[in-house]
Amino acid sequence: MDFLSKLFMSGRSKSKGKPGYVKRDGSHGIWIYLQCDRCGEKIPVRLRTTSELQKREGPDAELGPGQYFVQKTVVGSKCYQRIEASVDFDAKYDVVDSQVVNGKLITYGEYKNNDEQ
Ligand SMILES: [Zn+2]
Repeated sequence: MDFLSKLFMSGRSKSKGKPGYVKRDGSHGIWIYLQCDRCGEKIPVRLRTTSELQKREGPDAELGPGQYFVQKTVVGSKCYQRIEASVDFDAKYDVVDSQVVNGKLITYGEYKNNDEQ
């Protein structure tokens, strides 16, 4: 591999997704999982890849590392705290980066563990 393609590859690999945060639901849906900071409730959030995920292009392309992104406000059933999530995804809808106000993004494994307790 020559220098230039190495450089290109390492630049691209920055936007590689972290596994475990997304569960596919059919061909047009994914689940992500949020946890409320205030009460600890774990909240599954279904996103339609066709309408809710926005492609990063034009000016948006510079604002985050992902190929797609979503901004979503979620309120759980145990308290009224608004959880504001912005999540970046790669082309396969794996999570690249996330910023969550009043909560955090958790993996499917963490979400499921809590259910069994
Ligand atoms: Zn809560």
